[in-house]
Amino acid sequence: MNKTEKSVELFKEAKALIPGGVNSPVRAFRAVGQNPIFIKKGIGAYIYDVDDNQYIDYVCSWGPLILGHANPRVIEAVKKVCEDGLTFGAPTERESQLAKLIIDAVPAIEKVRLVSSGTEAVMSAIRVSRGFTGRDKIVKFRGNYHGHSDGLLVKAGSGLLTESIPDSAGVPAGYAENTLLADYNSLSSVEALFETCGEEIAAIVVEPVAANMGVVPPEEGFLEGLREITKKYDALLIFDEVITGFRIAYGGAGEYYGVEPDLVTLGKIVGGGMPLAAYGGRRDIMEVVAPLGAVYQAGTLSGNPVATAAGIETLMILREHPEYYKKIDANGERLAKAYEDKGYSVNRVGSLLSCFFTNKRVTDFASAQTSDTKAFAEYFKKMTEQGIYVAPSQFEAMFVSAVHSDEDIDRTIDVIRTL
Ligand SMILES: *Cc1c(COP(=O)(O)O)cnc(C)c1O
Repeated sequence: MNKTEKSVELFKEAKALIPGGVNSPVRAFRAVGQNPIFIKKGIGAYIYDVDDNQYIDYVCSWGPLILGHANPRVIEAVKKVCEDGLTFGAPTERESQLAKLIIDAVPAIEKVRLVSSGTEAVMSAIRVSRGFTGRDKIVKFRGNYHGHSDGLLVKAGSGLLTESIPDSAGVPAGYAENTLLADYNSLSSVEALFETCGEEIAAIVVEPVAANMGVVPPEEGFLEGLREITKKYDALLIFDEVITGFRIAYGGAGEYYGVEPDLVTLGKIVGGGMPLAAYGGRRDIMEVVAPLGAVYQAGTLSGNPVATAAGIETLMILREHPEYYKKIDANGERLAKAYEDKGYSVNRVGSLLSCFFTNKRVTDFASAQTSDTKAFAEYFKKMTEQGIYVAPSQFEAMFVSAVHSDEDIDRTIDVIRTL
């Protein structure tokens, strides 16, 4: 058993001050019925909690840290810009530098706007799609997560829930009415919606690799099919690449699968660990954004100097080291195999993977829901006790970073074998 007294104490204090003691719900470890660990620091592939336990970290801040914790070049870049001031609310050269890196990397992006969170990026991309097409409805997939903006908190969790009802209190039903739901990997469910009201649909928004119901890869032809349907009805295709961007390939899922969406959202890795995200796409579409066009979107801290410095350095390192993608892919494969050997249902795309506690193949939200979450909670406990930190929920991804060494992977596999 790890010693966790300090974490327990800090959580108690936090709960008195912050709703649930956390600033984002999944950090509270409720799905696994445990006390969250409070982190003191991270170095490379490891995190250390306030009770001085060390863990190999496969959460990596939920995706951003593809270079691991405290990468020396990224930290140095951040330190350097801090000394010149933290924010101006006026243009800086670094914004164009980061925009150029993004445009060079992501095939579908010709122009890009920087924002501060993935939520903001997707919310803005959807507004742009509505402004551009003059249509109101959007299609999203059950089990896909696009941040917490009102119209997107809809997924009709189980068969018992009625369609298009918000998942959250405080979201007026009217906000969700324009969000139509389809099943991931089911083109026929998308076609049915377009046949009914295709002329009213502004866009399909999709995680090209779903990673917020556990990892669920697109089946062959799925993304291509979405591209065809949207073309046919003059609707836009939005890839939410907040997780997959710079992760499954430097150019993201668009590059990996060879499908070009109209708009792309980025977050997590693009900010190198700072609050920065982006949305971009076809030039003619992006030019409807203010001040050029009629779609309003703004941000006091957008393109912040410190955040852009971290993002630029992170992308430059990734661009200089294409071999990192081979390495994290190979390590992802080794971990996947270890889980498979234990009989788990495993999904993986490159360095993104999930092991599901079900004997079903997981291809959509319904099959993901067949997982035994109690068994997951036990698994999570065993992993943390042996110094392996994975996401405290069945419905999240495991992230392999470029600094996980062969020995880290060996040690993790040894633990998996004991499960
Ligand atoms: C994390 C995530 C978001 C939301 O990003 P935040 O920065 O948490 O607001 C949106 N879409 C996807 C696919 C994500 O994984």
